[in-house]
Amino acid sequence: MNIILLGPPGAGKGTQASHLVDDFGMAQLSTGDMLRAARKAGTPLGERVAAVMDSGGLVSDEIVDDLICDKLDSMPDDQGAIFDGYPRTAAQAHSLDKILADRGRTLDFVIELNVDEDALVDRITGRFTCASCGEGYHDRYKLPKVEGVCDNCGSTEFKRRPDDNEETVRTRMAEYRAKTAPILPIYDERGLVRRIDGMQSIDEVTKEIEAIIGKK
Ligand SMILES: [Zn+2]
Repeated sequence: MNIILLGPPGAGKGTQASHLVDDFGMAQLSTGDMLRAARKAGTPLGERVAAVMDSGGLVSDEIVDDLICDKLDSMPDDQGAIFDGYPRTAAQAHSLDKILADRGRTLDFVIELNVDEDALVDRITGRFTCASCGEGYHDRYKLPKVEGVCDNCGSTEFKRRPDDNEETVRTRMAEYRAKTAPILPIYDERGLVRRIDGMQSIDEVTKEIEAIIGKK
């Protein structure tokens, strides 16, 4: 089973990917994480990555493809892959076909978590966490039972992420649309795209994803 997970930041992609890792033993191939890991590992590929990043340039498709190949080659043949943050361009989508075919793998599904932009803004801009234990809260949906005191640990310090604001969320949505616009039609044509309402609860989204994968 090889799938691509698509969705804008805040749609819950990371959470869903970790469920798939836990429940199906799949491996998550997140290009952002892989770039950071390669750099840290200091492999020849990692050194190429570091050189590009330090010069402020964009990591080339070739480097990304090499990372994906290395990762797939390190996995057992029967372990499924979840691609996250990749492919981002039509060229990468075509390389992925070749990379998978060379390894006797096929792409089974492209699962897109759809979100309503206004609802996403509402969800993200209201969230805050306990500065001490990290428990998550929300201005409208989940306030501490006692005002200003964490339910979990009793701390009175909370924090908000500076990028949890409307402008950032809308910019990210626009970037997401621009990035997926070139690749979605490729997979739509092949009948691989499944769309899920990402505004449902985490459990409902998980159930739907697992139903899709289970049908295989
Ligand atoms: Zn706490």
